[in-house]
Amino acid sequence: MKPKKILTVIGARPQFIKASAVSAILEQSDELHEVVVHTGQHFDANMSDVFFSELGMRPPAYQCAVHGGGHGEMTGRMLIEIEKVLLAEKPDAVLVYGDTNSTLAGSLAAIKLHIPVAHVEAGLRSLNMASPEEVNRICTDRVSRWLFTPTEGACTHLRREGVAADHIHLVGDVMFDVALHHGARVDESGGLLGQLRARHDVRPGGYCLATIHRAENTDHPARLATIVEALIAFSKDIPVVLPLHPRTRAVLAREGKLQVLEQAVLLLDPLGYLDMVQLEKHAALIATDSGGVQKEAFFYRVPCVTLRDETEWSELVESGWNRLTPPVSSASVLQSLRASLGSAGADVSPYGKGDAARRIVRQLAADLA
Ligand code: UDP
Repeated sequence: MKPKKILTVIGARPQFIKASAVSAILEQSDELHEVVVHTGQHFDANMSDVFFSELGMRPPAYQCAVHGGGHGEMTGRMLIEIEKVLLAEKPDAVLVYGDTNSTLAGSLAAIKLHIPVAHVEAGLRSLNMASPEEVNRICTDRVSRWLFTPTEGACTHLRREGVAADHIHLVGDVMFDVALHHGARVDESGGLLGQLRARHDVRPGGYCLATIHRAENTDHPARLATIVEALIAFSKDIPVVLPLHPRTRAVLAREGKLQVLEQAVLLLDPLGYLDMVQLEKHAALIATDSGGVQKEAFFYRVPCVTLRDETEWSELVESGWNRLTPPVSSASVLQSLRASLGSAGADVSPYGKGDAARRIVRQLAADLA
């Protein structure tokens, strides 16, 4: 029998990482055939290409070039491009990941053409409708036929919102699959950490790794200034390493904060996944506003400070691995960073067994047969 066609829509850094796990299993499937569309949301070599090569993914069959502009413009242009591909390819299902504009555009384009949608990372809620990610999650879940959830908590959200039980599939977290597979390839020797150790005072177990890119921080000068001040102060305690997202770099340059930050904190360009994993695994502490990095901190049992008002990964806060710290004053952020150093949380395993991708593919194959 002819394999059923799955059309995957991805476009942002964390989606390449998540999709790498599922694409690898789809590749082995006789029942399903995958066609990948890259929207172009992230397009730099170090925000996109590096993940395809490092994670062993085929180049996308369709490469769009939609990036920049406001949310409406970006999502609208993606809708136009994705619809063209859907009309040409006529897939049996559309697969989307996470909570970006690419997720929303992929799911809307599909449902309008009556193509069923599968959402990986369904059911997450930060309960903050002012964040673009929350809007994207809720709208995508609402139109999805398969809601593949990473945690029990995500299932609870969906049941509470009235999603039919047979559409909810608790599979675990695909990022955990990727971390188990690739995390094992990385140790403290050589690589980027080896270089940083040789050139700077950055030793395994003795530095703080930070990432900042959420609009709620980069688009609010007072919050960004608080984070910058706190990281500069903390760098007097231990070295702070900060791979800078292009958006954050642009805002810091515009606000005249790049130089002062650079004098205290080791600023890097965005990292490839394996370099990032190496720095995460061997950090004493991670400070971030990223969803994925919060979880990876836990996968490698590194304490984490999340510089946000809320998180969709609430189980990490409840288990004590993550300290939620709204960046409202540099003194309180500094206090939280200091208190988290050397801390540990409970022995929990909320993200499944590392076989989420296999479960997703099995379910899709069974339902589309
Ligand atoms: N990441 C990376 N290089 C970096 C920063 C992050 O490879 O310089 C990876 C990180 O390990 C995680 C993912 O990107 O797997 C998280 O993506 P991001 O923080 O951009 O988005 P979010 O998870 O907040 O949606």
